[in-house]
Amino acid sequence: MSHVTVITIDGPVGVGKSTVARLVAAELGYFHIDTGAMYRSVTLAAMERRVNVADEAALTKLAQSLKIELKYTDGQLRVYCDGRDVTIAIRQPDVSKNTSPVADVIGVRQCMVEQQRQLGLAQPSVCEGRDIGTVVFPDARWKFYLDASLEERTKRHAQQLRELGNQVELEELKQAIRARDQHDRNRPYGPLRVARDAVIIDTTGIGQDEMTRIIRAFVGDASRRDSS
Ligand code: C5P
Repeated sequence: MSHVTVITIDGPVGVGKSTVARLVAAELGYFHIDTGAMYRSVTLAAMERRVNVADEAALTKLAQSLKIELKYTDGQLRVYCDGRDVTIAIRQPDVSKNTSPVADVIGVRQCMVEQQRQLGLAQPSVCEGRDIGTVVFPDARWKFYLDASLEERTKRHAQQLRELGNQVELEELKQAIRARDQHDRNRPYGPLRVARDAVIIDTTGIGQDEMTRIIRAFVGDASRRDSS
């Protein structure tokens, strides 16, 4: 697709993609494209504007009209939608729940995929989500698929939610994660899949630093290879 380097990381809910993508990107000096944050931003806007999540035409029009920006401040990703900081709002559980159906809409996906490709083609990037190695950047040089047991992913996701000030009931969260994964695996366009040429890493029992180290070991000094 291009000579610009893109590292793709896909995987299910709570596997630690975002943190690892952020750490790998920081070490390499790459841009981190959190595609889940983009679908979440469209969903938050739809909820606030009371757009019916079954109205595909309205959701597509909304997605096309929004200006979603990913910016880094002090190493932390901040997400802006039409100039407003939505970093915290898009992580709330009701937004998580509604994002899967919004992300089913083909018009929404086409719009997001186009923006993700533009970001990835503009600068060396680590791009993470569900369909990155299969649909968004099928020709990427390095593709990873992270997985972990449902129990472990539930614990990791619970910790993230608690850090955002949410109360978490573990069994309820586990069911919500299971339902979201199933939904994401079964959508007709851009489902969660392992790319044929992806390296699969079972991260059960492995911490974020170790996951980052493993990916770095595969990728090496990607920036140096780029310029050679
Ligand atoms: O990764 P995160 O949990 O933030 O993603 C939220 C939701 O956005 C996912 O459950 C999925 O439905 C959708 N998504 C997607 N394709 C992507 C990234 C996220 O459909 N590339």
